[in-house]
Amino acid sequence: MQRVTTVQAMQAAADKARAAGKTLALVPTMGALHAGHLQLVKEAKRHADHVTVSVFVNPTQFAPGEDYTVYPRMLDADAGLIEEVGADVVFAPAVEELYPNRAHLGETWVTVDRLSDHLCGRYRDGHFRGVTTVVTKLFNACRPHKAFFGLKDAQQYFVLKRMVTDLCMGVEVLGVPTVREADGLAMSSRNLYLQPDERRQAVVLSRAVEAARQAVQQGELGVKGLVEAMRHELAQAPLANTQYAEVVDTDALQPLTTLTPGSTVLAAVAVYFGKTRLIDNAIIQVPA
Ligand code: AMP
Repeated sequence: MQRVTTVQAMQAAADKARAAGKTLALVPTMGALHAGHLQLVKEAKRHADHVTVSVFVNPTQFAPGEDYTVYPRMLDADAGLIEEVGADVVFAPAVEELYPNRAHLGETWVTVDRLSDHLCGRYRDGHFRGVTTVVTKLFNACRPHKAFFGLKDAQQYFVLKRMVTDLCMGVEVLGVPTVREADGLAMSSRNLYLQPDERRQAVVLSRAVEAARQAVQQGELGVKGLVEAMRHELAQAPLANTQYAEVVDTDALQPLTTLTPGSTVLAAVAVYFGKTRLIDNAIIQVPA
């Protein structure tokens, strides 16, 4: 496995693999890898001949006051896991490589309007603009045919799908189902921050979105009822502080009041345990 730190070397490695007729995949991550990330790499290997995993803690996707400086960084351990699972390249650039004009981090942006307005976008100022901008940079460096993202971050997945279509990027964006702990908690690098009692109570996030799914299967079409079902589950955790529990459509990610039979909707929650912010969601097929 190759370890690459510069954009130039990454582009050369990608061009070489493309010239050899290979299909290239990229799995962007911020490191602190767990089984969820590794599942993305395994999926990428199934769909491509050459897999690059990027490890980059992107400063521009952290809203003011978020955990950028303390975000877990463990590149050597990550590279070991990435090698074990059989990726071809680890791309781990320094901030200066992806933001060469470091004094002016924010002069060139890629933004996706509307889809970034609700859910996490409403509470994390500038977050999706940071994500779309860094993913564009990673695409320019790694030149993939396909890129893999987790459905755990469903809004991110839908925003990036819109970005590649609207900007004619020629990259296929694929979503991978959320990998969970035995009790249902979605795996996340931020789970490392949880105290033992918070960790036990964090199971309410997956229970909440599953409650919404069940209610829809049982015929509930009113979003008020779905939100109540989610909030009821979240209320079972005394340490949980809910930021949002919402149901939106999967096209424009706009809030709904009534579900349309046969449509697909996204039920999503964000919950604080102390300073740790966790998210979960369910993509729900409404019976026709
Ligand atoms: P992050 O390092 O948190 O930015 O995540 C990198 C990628 O891994 C993103 O596409 C995430 O959606 C995905 N990911 C994170 N956690 C999970 C999980 N539990 N299951 C599936 N994918 C995940």
